[in-house]
Amino acid sequence: MVREKIMIYQWSYSRLGCYERCPKQAEFKFIKKIKEPGSAAMDRGKNIHQLCEDYIRGNIDNIPKELSEFEEAFDSLKELYLYGHVICESDWAITKEWEKTGWFAEDTWGRAKVDAFVYEEGISNEARVIDFKTGRYQGNQEAHREQCEFYGSVALKRYPELESIVTEMWYLDHGKIDRYIYTPASIKVKQERIHARAMAMTTATEFPAKPSRFGCKWCHFGKENMCTEAIQ
Ligand code: SF4
Repeated sequence: MVREKIMIYQWSYSRLGCYERCPKQAEFKFIKKIKEPGSAAMDRGKNIHQLCEDYIRGNIDNIPKELSEFEEAFDSLKELYLYGHVICESDWAITKEWEKTGWFAEDTWGRAKVDAFVYEEGISNEARVIDFKTGRYQGNQEAHREQCEFYGSVALKRYPELESIVTEMWYLDHGKIDRYIYTPASIKVKQERIHARAMAMTTATEFPAKPSRFGCKWCHFGKENMCTEAIQ
């Protein structure tokens, strides 16, 4: 039986953020699947992520200028990659029980794209998740810390032999790294909190508008008059 698309069945950290800022916007994006135009900032972010991957994999020899603030750190990743200790661009999907599953499986509930996962398996009991960020540093820390909690929760579930997980946000345009370390014990409450938030989103059947001056200002659906509750 084909199920009717009146709910958002799968979540990711960015979907969750969108839903919590404005459920109506999430409905436009993830239920009605209305495409939004891209932007120069998004294209730049994608290009830089590709450069990160290409450099770590050794597909390009010289450090691109966009990554130059992190030359030493990228060289270290490049070396670890040669020994099979770095996975670039991993797709991690989970069930409602936070068990590993396929990206498009029947029971897929949550998804996380991991820019780089560093794990010296058999050598270390600690692994590292790295997320490459472009654009703004200020103002996003809280959301990015919660994103790290999500990465940490998934990693510790996926690799139960780990004693700790290091999660890092590399702000490529600013030369800054924010780092959070979790253990199975310290992540428990954080995982429960994210679980409750994601459950609220994936069981919602109503998507009321939550207009705000800032949110509506940048919202495609408001600008295009698809949303009648936009604050102009
Ligand atoms: S215009 Fe405002 S209220 Fe409407 S969907 Fe966008 S953010 Fe939500």
